[in-house]
Amino acid sequence: MAILETRDLNKWFGGLHVTGGVDFTLQPGEIHCLIGPNGAGKSTFFRLILGEYLPTSGRIFYDGHDITRAKSFARIRRGISVKFQVPGIFKALSVRQNLQIALQHHLAGHSLGEEIDRLLEFLKLKDTEKQLAGDLSHGQKQWLEIGMAIALKPKLLLLDEPTAGMTPDETFATGEMVQALNRNGVTVLAVEHDMAFVRQIAQSVTVLHFGKIFAQGTIDDIIADEGVAAIYLGEVHA
Ligand code: ADP
Ligand code: MG
Repeated sequence: MAILETRDLNKWFGGLHVTGGVDFTLQPGEIHCLIGPNGAGKSTFFRLILGEYLPTSGRIFYDGHDITRAKSFARIRRGISVKFQVPGIFKALSVRQNLQIALQHHLAGHSLGEEIDRLLEFLKLKDTEKQLAGDLSHGQKQWLEIGMAIALKPKLLLLDEPTAGMTPDETFATGEMVQALNRNGVTVLAVEHDMAFVRQIAQSVTVLHFGKIFAQGTIDDIIADEGVAAIYLGEVHA
């Protein structure tokens, strides 16, 4: 059974058809990348899955449940988590305190401290735990944000441009984090522009264009697709 399925999902903003009849299926255990030119509707698709926007029509199923109209908190409770493009960390608090906030309603005392230590290690942030989050490098902020998103051990992790602004080394390390999470059973759907990163992590790729699924396949299928090349070329000339 699919972990996530959308059926004929549509979202209109006024006269703008931003999600155009999307039938999308994600299998459990998959790492799937969503690509497409700017304005293709990738972030909107994420917000529909998370319940931050309600669709104009169509349905969304998660783990066997119809979540089309479910509130965001109910979706999160069922195991969906997201890291958006803009970091939502608490800049005036330390790295450790940020992770504590993400965990403290669920763990206490010794196990809370241990889990924070485990996360700091995983995120390569152990040496920075006492620093203010606002003083981290751009890449480290993104990792802390990933930490906040995975603190509650989601089943489905949505990542919106997780490597934007990262150095190639940070990008590669992020790919290794995503793969490690996936080995531990997390299904991943990532919006990404960096094709090296997509190649590193994606088992399959979906191309969105004007809110519709334009192509699907392996990364090799996608980069060999002349139609896909044309829509990206269109972006460069726009
Ligand atoms: P992407 O993430 O692929 O760059 P978005 O989903 O952010 O694309 O945006 C797709 C289109 O929807 C854009 O034309 C954008 O301006 C429009 N859009 C997104 N959110 C809103 C909104 N809340 N109100 C009106 N238009 C929106
Ligand atoms: Mg976007």
